[in-house]
Amino acid sequence: MDIDLSSQEIAFRDEVRAFLRDNLPDRIKRGAASSPTVFVEPDVGQDWNAILADMGWLGYQWPEEYGGTGWTSTQRYIFEKECALAGAPNLTVLGLKLVAPVIFNFGTEEQRREYLPRILSGQDYWCQGFSEPNAGSDLASLSCRAVRDGDDYVISGSKIWTTHAHFANRMFLLVRTNTDGRKQAGISFLLMDLDDPGVQIRPIVTLAGDHEVNQVFLENVRVPAANLVGEEGQGWTIAKFLLENERGGSCHAPKLAYDIEQVMIAAAEQPDGRGGKLSDDRDWQRRVAKLRLEVDALEMIELKILAEIANGREPGPQTSLTKMIASNLRQDIDLLAVDLYGPAGLQLPNARPLYGENAPDPLCSPDAQVASARYLNSRAWTIFGGTNEVQSTIIAKTVLGL
Ligand SMILES: Cc1cc2nc3c(=O)[nH]c(=O)nc-3n(C[C@H](O)[C@H](O)[C@H](O)COP(=O)(O)OP(=O)(O)OC[C@H]3O[C@@H](n4cnc5c(N)ncnc54)[C@H](O)[C@@H]3O)c2cc1C
Repeated sequence: MDIDLSSQEIAFRDEVRAFLRDNLPDRIKRGAASSPTVFVEPDVGQDWNAILADMGWLGYQWPEEYGGTGWTSTQRYIFEKECALAGAPNLTVLGLKLVAPVIFNFGTEEQRREYLPRILSGQDYWCQGFSEPNAGSDLASLSCRAVRDGDDYVISGSKIWTTHAHFANRMFLLVRTNTDGRKQAGISFLLMDLDDPGVQIRPIVTLAGDHEVNQVFLENVRVPAANLVGEEGQGWTIAKFLLENERGGSCHAPKLAYDIEQVMIAAAEQPDGRGGKLSDDRDWQRRVAKLRLEVDALEMIELKILAEIANGREPGPQTSLTKMIASNLRQDIDLLAVDLYGPAGLQLPNARPLYGENAPDPLCSPDAQVASARYLNSRAWTIFGGTNEVQSTIIAKTVLGL
């Protein structure tokens, strides 16, 4: 595997670096640093998207024909890595990285024309309606019904854990269009408008006190049959394609490395209680070194997958491996940050957001203020996009052949 950058790639990296230095505002960086949730809220996320869109870089994973950059997989990795190392917010992937590739690959020409430009312009904000109260890991058991009636589907059921549904105007969802035969074969993929009559969105406030997820109730909601993506019954195939994109082709390691770096900077200022600084403590150093090595090892795996993708191979089930390793590391690093600040790391303010003029005054520092909320929030990493147990089963079956 060749993981050295070519001279053109180094020039590209420098261009991205210079752009980030000149165009990533402190307000957006602070918003990212003080958001305990995976996705920042739209006041930060959509503003950052707009800056990237102005540069023509928002569709960094999209083909040129749909308004994307047409970048190679290596350029995309460099871009994501540099954004992470500069402290930029995670991009809200729901429209950009989840539904958009589905629309390129399975959508009609009308669907491409209708939806793709609205993702890049920020007019549409998408959420993902897959999970249901009785269908999470066993997603194929989903029961939200869509019954064909003339030119429409009539949808009844509910979706749960729907991230940012309260900000979204559109939802892509899996519905049951057939109850006969294999349960996977009766699932279809639809696009819907959340303003439609019969939609009700109820907040779910998580452990850390954040309103990030929701339950969405659908009662006889009429969705045009033209919003079906692919064929009726093809939803399971499309969902697998989407989940592979959600889990991987991934660039987790640079963001994890950035977060360790922030912890190390703060540890150099943090008293160790014995007249020195925490960064000089041997046990602390050992703990940080172990995490850094694990993040470096993850980066090697990510680069190996990248090299394979660059050679025309699909990311495949290896993305389950990187998702699982990254999720465990995320939780370990967030625990490290809580421990770093001692008692100040245990503050858990109710107010949100923790950035901007109305943020509550922090004890110690804004990073200490967000540490506990982030630690609690990151429990979700080993659950969403498929739990660790589900990823382990995928790896056991498809990678190890057990
Ligand atoms: C913060 C957050 C955001 C989310 N956002 C979204 C979203 O936007 N859209 C969306 O559709 N979904 C979303 N989800 C849902 C997420 O995908 C599900 O929570 C996840 O798939 C697990 O499903 P479940 O919660 O029903 O748990 P269950 O499937 O009931 O699992 C419960 C426990 O049993 C274990 N388990 C289940 N089956 C097996 C098995 N076969 N072998 C071994 N162990 C097993 C699981 O690992 C877990 O520990 C989100 C979840 C969270 C926490």
